[in-house]
Amino acid sequence: MTYQNFSRAQLQAIDSAHHLHPFTDHKELRGAGARMITRAEGPFIYDSEGTQILDGMAGLWCVNVGYGREELAKAAYDQMKELPFYNSFFRCTTPTPVLLAAKLAELAPANVNQVFYGSSGSEANDTALRLVRHYWALEGKPTKRIVISRKSAYHGSSIAGASLGGMDGMHSQLYGAVPDIVHVMPPYSFELALPGESDHDFGLRAARAVEQAILDAGAENVAAFIGEPILGAGGVKIPPASYWPEIQRICDKYDVLLMIDEVITGYGRTGAWFASETYGIKADTITTAKALTSGYQPLSALLVGDRIASTLVDKGGEFYHGYTYSGHPVACAVALKNLEIIDREGLIDRVKNDTGPYFAAALAERIGTHDLIGETRAIGLMGAIEIVKDRGTRERFAGGASGDKIRDLSIANGFMVRSVGDTIIMAPPLIWTREHVDMACDRLAKALDSAEADLRRAG
Ligand code: PMP
Repeated sequence: MTYQNFSRAQLQAIDSAHHLHPFTDHKELRGAGARMITRAEGPFIYDSEGTQILDGMAGLWCVNVGYGREELAKAAYDQMKELPFYNSFFRCTTPTPVLLAAKLAELAPANVNQVFYGSSGSEANDTALRLVRHYWALEGKPTKRIVISRKSAYHGSSIAGASLGGMDGMHSQLYGAVPDIVHVMPPYSFELALPGESDHDFGLRAARAVEQAILDAGAENVAAFIGEPILGAGGVKIPPASYWPEIQRICDKYDVLLMIDEVITGYGRTGAWFASETYGIKADTITTAKALTSGYQPLSALLVGDRIASTLVDKGGEFYHGYTYSGHPVACAVALKNLEIIDREGLIDRVKNDTGPYFAAALAERIGTHDLIGETRAIGLMGAIEIVKDRGTRERFAGGASGDKIRDLSIANGFMVRSVGDTIIMAPPLIWTREHVDMACDRLAKALDSAEADLRRAG
């Protein structure tokens, strides 16, 4: 039986009866019913009524090569016929994770040459946390356990991922976070810079909050700093240029490992294979997932730097950690083909030299001039707009719901975006052309126009 035998209302009723959705108020959803997306092609998604929507979020930051790729379907089909599954435990391996590991070592920064697979970003960050603490134990420094992170960071939904992340709502429901994780201020100048403080100075101040946390804890107790190069789910918060070099200096000075979470930024988003390149960061671990397969299969790859890997190999002893689907042959076959497509179509160069700069300029010139907008920012194909009541003072509308309102209007106008408080965020497929950027700006501008009167009336 296929879903075409069901009406939208029937599917929504079954959804309400049996399906608990991620990050959802179920009471609210059961009243409204979920939007049903039924197919997609290129940069567009279609709902059950056949409405075409330009996807400004690449699914969930993942569908970098766009929808409807026959080659990826074929890679999965062929691998499923040949060998749908075998594990990588007990001294076994299969061909596709091996070839993918070599490819990832080639693409990753020079000091990063090893891979540990999982199925999700959350799993990969669990691996990273365990690996980093295990590294220090192997090095005879078991007191180095504390990991420093940032408020509004997102590192996943497992207990370790949520503990590493800095989302207040998630922490309030952890009922016991993983111990020895400390959170400092994020590099979010729009809200946190002092009056008159330059971007440069703010970036240094935000980085030095990490230094202060290391000094407070004692460097002998600090294992690592973890950060997304650009805070993604927390609101596409792009750090000032001074931030990452200062973080690197601080980590080097106190012998603190650098864990970089590139689950969103990996595989082209910022106009380089990895944002670690964009910012010149020398990472000890790089967490990746999502666009590794463009979302066509669940797969994560924790890329592990030489420093940790050589200790693991030289000292030996089993690392008691792994997932059934670590190195899943089908997911790895799809990843190999996906990386080939990104490369062959020159998508990363296009983002870096054409669509990325065009996107930043279009947001600034066509959205940033609107009365409701306090700031636009973008890097590669990743951007945000800040909704304000007053452009001069950056005062927000009361109630924190301006983002949801504009998001809903934008979707109704045929452009899928996401809201985070009073911020609208975007991360479209890398196949976007200038034409798609224009279409997005037109639809978003219309949403802003139609929201303004209501927002001002409500205050
Ligand atoms: N890290 C970052 C930076 C993410 O954005 C996400 C997911 N949005 C994760 C980790 C978790 O990945 P997953 O949802 O695949 O577990």
